[in-house]
Amino acid sequence: MDVPDSQNDQRSFIEEQVRADRLHQLFRQSVSAVVGSLLAAVILCGLCWERFDQSIVVGWLTILAASSLLRISMFIAYFRSPEHLRTPQRWERTYWCTLVLSAGIWGVGALTVMPADDLLSQALVMLFTVGMSVSAVSCYSAYRYMTLTSIGLVLLPCALWLLFQSTTIQVGMALAVFVFASFVARATSKMAEALETAFRLTREMELAHNISTRAAQTDELTGLKNRRAFFERAQQLYDDCKRNRLGLCAVMLDMDHFKHINDTYGHQVGDQVLRQMGEVISSFFRDTDVHGRLGGEEFAVLLPDTSIEAAVEMAEQLIQAIAGLMTVPVHRVTASLGVASTDVDDKDLHSLMNNADKALYQAKARGRNQIAVAD
Ligand code: GH3
Ligand code: MG
Ligand code: MG
Repeated sequence: MDVPDSQNDQRSFIEEQVRADRLHQLFRQSVSAVVGSLLAAVILCGLCWERFDQSIVVGWLTILAASSLLRISMFIAYFRSPEHLRTPQRWERTYWCTLVLSAGIWGVGALTVMPADDLLSQALVMLFTVGMSVSAVSCYSAYRYMTLTSIGLVLLPCALWLLFQSTTIQVGMALAVFVFASFVARATSKMAEALETAFRLTREMELAHNISTRAAQTDELTGLKNRRAFFERAQQLYDDCKRNRLGLCAVMLDMDHFKHINDTYGHQVGDQVLRQMGEVISSFFRDTDVHGRLGGEEFAVLLPDTSIEAAVEMAEQLIQAIAGLMTVPVHRVTASLGVASTDVDDKDLHSLMNNADKALYQAKARGRNQIAVAD
């Protein structure tokens, strides 16, 4: 469960996630654009085959096909790459380059094939460039500036050329295209904003859910798992060990004469000692071990794939680590530990914990600050 601690970290964590979401959306949404832009050029050239200079048409379509192949190979590489490598840092720049290249080829190519003296061809070319711009909104809406750049590169060469022609109809066509383009640009900005907000809200809700789940599972004082979370994880670990025929040891720990510490130095000092116990326990055990505060001054640890001898050795080292705690003003802190193993009794998790608990009370009865092993 990814939960950054500080608010600043949480903010930048969400920004990173939103950026990654936008990239995934871009790749998912724009697959059709790769084939679509080539197809549009082929249809346009087919319709105006007799009106266009055919050698220019062949050259344009060939270059466009090559740039489409380049984009297809980028899409294949992206979808084949493992999830953790699909990052904005890795892919955004490549995407930008191929987009500028293919949109530029489309716009400049359309201008090159468009005959200077044939109004019908010019109108058809403009119709296709406007159509391409509208499709750009549906393909690149996750990235506002990609949409605007691709619209600009496709539309501007022909529209600007028409704007400076002598007939009113050509200038009128150019102006109409600019008006359409301005509406498309506004719609793009709104869509990109709405998408980004949707991604951000989803990620914020996810983070809020993770924070509340973690809070519900964590003991506030020590930062260890609380009783409920401990037993949930413990049950999973018990089942895993049973399935894989691995030994499992349980260690129960209860601090000695803790009431005396509270009574002598005050509750706050007692809390401080418990906090230090939490630090010792969380740094002492392996990542695969499960530990938690069961309540009061009582802790438990489960050690998977561990023999009883190894568990006892770890418990001895833990007793020494507790004895070495600097708990000013408390002079000495000790604890008693009970150790049990599934090698002796493998009924269920609760019988394992009960055995460790019984051993713990033997350790108390024998004078505390020691370890007892369940029979
Ligand atoms: P024993 O060696 O037999 O275990 O003696 P003990 O005094 O440790 O055991 P007892 O069960 O009599 O007392 C436990 C004490 O732990 C009583 C309670 O006030 C204290 N305690 C429980 N939870 C907390 C806590 O969160 N903070 C502090 N400061 N004290 C706590
Ligand atoms: Mg105690
Ligand atoms: Mg106790």
